[in-house]
Amino acid sequence: MQYVDLNIVRYAAGILAAADELGETIYCEVQPCEGRAEYLIPDATRPGGGGQDIEQRPAMVCREHAEEMLGNAPEEQPIFRRLEGPGEE
Ligand SMILES: [Zn+2]
Repeated sequence: MQYVDLNIVRYAAGILAAADELGETIYCEVQPCEGRAEYLIPDATRPGGGGQDIEQRPAMVCREHAEEMLGNAPEEQPIFRRLEGPGEE
């Protein structure tokens, strides 16, 4: 099971809706990268506070960087998926 706080979904949805409304593309947040953002990493981390602290916040990244962070290709995440039952044999 995976879960994401709805506040994170709301934050990301706001960014996506604003970009859609303006006809803008959201790009990967990893610098330097000009890939189109395809994934939301809800708990992305990066150095903050003068390099001593770690900042954690949602980040939008391209497929390539999502794969680099995961260590493997991102799995398909359909909104709806029906898992086949064992059926009758
Ligand atoms: Zn990228």
